[in-house]
Amino acid sequence: MTKKIIIASHNQGKLQEIRTLLDPLPLNVVGAGDLLLPEPEEPFTTFIENALHKARYVSRLTASPALADDSGLCVDHLMGAPGIMSARFAGLDKSDEKNNQKLLDLLHNVSHRSAHFICCIVLVRHESDPDPIISIGKWYGQIARNQSGSNGFGYDPLFYIPELKKTAAQLTQAEKNQFSHRAKALQGIIQALQKDSYFND
Ligand code: IMP
Repeated sequence: MTKKIIIASHNQGKLQEIRTLLDPLPLNVVGAGDLLLPEPEEPFTTFIENALHKARYVSRLTASPALADDSGLCVDHLMGAPGIMSARFAGLDKSDEKNNQKLLDLLHNVSHRSAHFICCIVLVRHESDPDPIISIGKWYGQIARNQSGSNGFGYDPLFYIPELKKTAAQLTQAEKNQFSHRAKALQGIIQALQKDSYFND
């Protein structure tokens, strides 16, 4: 039987990316925004707790399996900041430009610039699922001293990948999808879904 999965995101770009990747599986993928569900809060201090909270919340409201993600940038010199505050690092008005400038200011004259993007994805079969499907993808790089590139979003212009000698904003979307934290986490979810007896019944 085809199972329905509600994606706990109101971001149409993210929804489309998830829909495309889940397309080969016999699933009915529905966006929480299409159901006019309220956006869940992110009250916790770790990505994994926030993703689990969002998935459970949407599963409770819809009585369906639900998938949620939480992602951000962790800079080692800043003890993992901006972390779960990545979207609103420079304040509540969510400006990529201000966030990037704040990061550059905090790392002024700092030589240790290692960082990683992380994406946690959680899928619950029902609200009180004792065995959520969890996948975490990470992408390691360095925080550049200047912004380069105009693709992508968020911290991409500052996220330099030494092996590629480019920032994430200098990659095409297709290239970014080969390496990114989100792509890795989604691949993990797909592999788990392909094996999962509940979703293949
Ligand atoms: P969210 O999980 O989509 O809400 O992402 C939180 C924030 O993390 C975004 O607003 C960005 O600032 C940052 N972020 C997450 N993924 C990426 C990425 O792939 N590139 C650049 N910034 C990202």
